[in-house]
Formats: sequence, C-alpha cells, structure tokens
Amino acid sequence: MTAQTLEPAKSRAIFLDRDGTLGGAGGFCHPDEFEFYEFTFEAIKLVNQAGFKAVVITNQSRIAKGQITFPQLENSINRLNLNLERHGATLDAWFVCPHQRSDHCNCKKPQPGLFLRAAQKLEIDLQNSFMIGDHGENDMLVAASVSCKPILVLTGLGRGSTGEFRHTWDSIEPAFVAENVLEAVKWILEI
Ligand SMILES: [Zn+2]
Repeated sequence: MTAQTLEPAKSRAIFLDRDGTLGGAGGFCHPDEFEFYEFTFEAIKLVNQAGFKAVVITNQSRIAKGQITFPQLENSINRLNLNLERHGATLDAWFVCPHQRSDHCNCKKPQPGLFLRAAQKLEIDLQNSFMIGDHGENDMLVAASVSCKPILVLTGLGRGSTGEFRHTWDSIEPAFVAENVLEAVKWILEI
C-alpha cells in the first residue's frame, strides 16, 4: 500500500464589498453612519448556514487621506458585528485597505493583496469562491484576477457599472448580475 498525503479541505468563501453592496449610500458614508441594507442580514445568515466563509474586503482610502481614523473604522466594525449578531449572522473577517492610490500598495482593490492574505489566513480555496460587489472596475476586476467568480449587484454603483462605466471593466463577464446581495447569495446557493 502506498503512502498518501491527506490535505485538509480548504474553505470556500463569499467575499463581500462593503459600500454599496452590504449597505451605505452610493458615495462616501462616515463609519459612524454606515448601516447595512435590510436584506443584508438574511444574505449573511444564508452564507453562514451554507458553510462558506463570509469575508468583507473593503477599500477605505479616506484613512490615508486623514478624513477618518482607523479607530473610528474599528469602532464601526465592532458596532456592525454586534448588530449582525443580534440578527443571528456573522462575518468571519474584515480585510481593510487604508491606502490611497498614490501609496501604490498591493491591497487596494483591484490589487489582489487582501484576497491573497485572506486566502492564506483562512485557508480559502479562491477558485471555488465568489466575490460580490457593486463596483465593476474594482470588485469585478479583482475577482477575476484571483480566480473567484465575480457577481455584480445593482445596488450602490452597480447600475453605473453595467452602464456608463462598463468600459472600465470590459475584459470581464460577471458570472451573474443580481438586484442585491441577497439575490446574489441565493443564486450562488441555488435557492
Ligand atoms: Zn492598500
């Protein structure tokens, strides 16, 4: 009998953009004022129940620009996590890029840094994972570059992404275009 190597199974993830996908308005939203959309709670609960990791990947360049502080963002994340808990839902992790474009970091979407860090830390199988976002130029491009299936939502900047800004990500065809994150999650889970 030959020896066999048994590798632990990797997790699948549903990566989620924050602004315009999980909640907030189309433009800037101060961390103290950011709230989830009503349907976001059920969406995340379904992700949890299906055994996928629910991982937020968000660009927060306002930190680099000095318009908000990292502690303000952390407070907001704690408040939002508590709110989720009250609804029986959990986000497994938040990964934040605090940089601005001129920092030339490797983690501001559409750069892949935060996805690669998440994949390593949480042992995620990127090829069998999904990215849900409203911003074609950031969310769809980065999903494709790390081999996740890109799903566009029409909340936030989504309508603009399918319309006047389609040319900024025209190398990508989304796997699905959903009205919102709940519809996107249901499509993934085939429910
Ligand atoms: Zn960064």
